[in-house]
Amino acid sequence: MISEVIQLCQAMVKIPSINPQAETMWQSPYGEEDMVAFVEQWLIDQGLNADFQTVAPQRDNVFAIAQGKDTTKTLLLCAHTDVVDIEGMTIDPFSGNIEDGKLYGRGACDTKASLATMLIAFRNTVLKGDMPYNLAILASCGEEFNMMGARHFARTHKASISGAIFGEPTSLNVIRCHKGVLRLSLQCHGQSCHSSTPHRGRNAIYSMAKCVTAIESFAHLLTKEKSHALLGHETISVNVIQGGSQFNIIPDKCVASVDWRLLPGRDINNCIAQLQKYLSSVVNDFTLTPESQYRPMETCGDHSMVLNLHAHAKMIFADSKVTSAPFATDASGFALLNIPTVVFGPGDIAQAHTAAEYIEINQIDQALDVLSSYLDGDWGL
Ligand SMILES: [Zn+2]
Repeated sequence: MISEVIQLCQAMVKIPSINPQAETMWQSPYGEEDMVAFVEQWLIDQGLNADFQTVAPQRDNVFAIAQGKDTTKTLLLCAHTDVVDIEGMTIDPFSGNIEDGKLYGRGACDTKASLATMLIAFRNTVLKGDMPYNLAILASCGEEFNMMGARHFARTHKASISGAIFGEPTSLNVIRCHKGVLRLSLQCHGQSCHSSTPHRGRNAIYSMAKCVTAIESFAHLLTKEKSHALLGHETISVNVIQGGSQFNIIPDKCVASVDWRLLPGRDINNCIAQLQKYLSSVVNDFTLTPESQYRPMETCGDHSMVLNLHAHAKMIFADSKVTSAPFATDASGFALLNIPTVVFGPGDIAQAHTAAEYIEINQIDQALDVLSSYLDGDWGL
């Protein structure tokens, strides 16, 4: 007989909710609508309130807030409802099968197990009553593409949230910092002409080749710049290139996608200016445009929320550490609010997004035990 939290995770894995990325039209298995309806109904069935927030057409957050004794502070639990694509999966992505202590399916690890854990912990804590502060839960949409749901929620509820825990597969470690992401579009401009007379034009691909080499050495420079005790140094990479149209035309345009992983405390405008200056030394005619940015997240290692959650995590799982994560999360959206945030959940990130994604079910029970005992004690806000 499996526990209620594992059953809830299994039920949610069976509901397809693939992030539709930049598409404007989609149907199941894409979109979070069925998950949003499920979470709403689940909250109502437990006797709790449930509220919506439309972030974009057919893209909703679902959330609930319960009042504590002191209503000036709110602790937020947040986990996303979307999952990544199922292309290339070698198992039935939505079976929710359990074999040898593992629950299989897309989203089992990232991050429906965390969402199930948070929903049950939220319900138990709220129904028990006597909470020191308000407790809120957010099932956010769109994390796997642009974190649209949590960013929207952070913008619209900023005054009331005083601390937040984000559910992701951390192997029951408490993540107190992660890097941010700056995505830049680099465009080299040239002049097209017939390829039989290339001297009459300017080849944008040649300019891009110089830029790519420059970014490779810029990446090396970043390894010499300041380093973070847990996160190491910043990284930058060129990951997509598009340019040219046919054999006999000198290309007038070449575009590359540049991904920069930023340390906490970095000013994004300074970063852009720094790279701009560096590239200007090798080419003239280019533009560097920020496409999207996700802020780094860092909470002090001695913050009482970090210490208290970790104390409970260690009691249940002796190997639990306070550490960093290499990946960005919904916590980025809250980084500007200056509130303590941590990332915590069951499952190993190594199994997230894989062809045979699974989670070890005993971690789901353990994560619930950690969250429940933490919420029974001092939240450290
Ligand atoms: Zn995730």
